[in-house]
Amino acid sequence: AAKGNGRGRFRFYSSDLHQAAEDRRALEEDLRDALVRGEMELTYQPVVQAKTNLVTGVEALIRWTHPERGVISPSVFVPIAEEANLIWPLGEWVLRKACQDAARWPGDLRVAVNVSPIQFANEDLPKVVASALGAAGLSPDRLELEITESVFLSDSAETARMFKALKDIGVRLALDDFGTGYSSLGYLQSAPFDKIKIDQSFVRGATVEGSRNAAIIAAIVALAEALDMETTAEGIESHDQLDLIRNLHVSHVQGYIYSKPVGNEELVDHAEAGSWMIKPSGPAKQRND
Ligand code: C2E
Ligand code: MG
Ligand code: MG
Ligand code: MG
Repeated sequence: AAKGNGRGRFRFYSSDLHQAAEDRRALEEDLRDALVRGEMELTYQPVVQAKTNLVTGVEALIRWTHPERGVISPSVFVPIAEEANLIWPLGEWVLRKACQDAARWPGDLRVAVNVSPIQFANEDLPKVVASALGAAGLSPDRLELEITESVFLSDSAETARMFKALKDIGVRLALDDFGTGYSSLGYLQSAPFDKIKIDQSFVRGATVEGSRNAAIIAAIVALAEALDMETTAEGIESHDQLDLIRNLHVSHVQGYIYSKPVGNEELVDHAEAGSWMIKPSGPAKQRND
């Protein structure tokens, strides 16, 4: 226990940190074999057009089922993969699998794939994207790459070249977690985004018209519209949030109120019925429809 003099306390924290480091090393080791052992899976969360409730695409979200620890969140293992040089093979697997799956879906649903800044900094990324599309026979405009603002912290000439190479392939680009990074807005002048994803942290508090979060969302929507970009609000859980976000003219919505991420088979079952429309669910509220 952390009792007694400073030295004892230091030892306590030190062994705590030691334990955390050990834990991380163990996870890193397991992560090395996770792909070949078939422990990785892609799930897909519907992205819904706000006006119509029609599903226009899905976001691919990776899941790792660890043999002993069960399902581990990507917010835990993706950063480890990034630091341990494992994000490249993992990211390539995600791209190839997402394209393969999407090519077999009924209709023309888009698939959005999260791309780590470390993948984005690798000059081979366009080659891998083109190869994944080609191997799957997927039209480039059905693939959307989600990138965060942090890519703008590195060399701007290289970043611009990467954007051009990806746009030349014909894929769509989305700016993920908008408003949470440390970049200036200046990059929006030249970056060819098709969509801005409004971070959940703004959506969470956006239940009251006139609230500060509502004002921020309205400003993001105005910015996106002026730059001819679509918007997606992430992480919508309640009817209050959904109503407000619709009133703010956000074009697309995503969140548990519509659907959690689902497996590929479940997605296909839903999409086979024709145009895939989902009604918002969740805590009951007096509604007329
Ligand atoms: P993200 O790209 O911003 O993805 C949105 C996250 O919000 C997902 O978490 C999703 O499951 C979750 N979410 C969706 N709707 C709701 C909601 O209504 N309420 C709440 N509370 N959460 C909601 P997830 O799947 O745990 O992924 C976390 C992050 O991990 C992602 O954030 C993304 O940055 C990263 N990630 C996931 N899959 C991949 C991948 O294949 N490659 C890379 N590089 N990163 C990935
Ligand atoms: Mg994302
Ligand atoms: Mg996000
Ligand atoms: Mg995120």
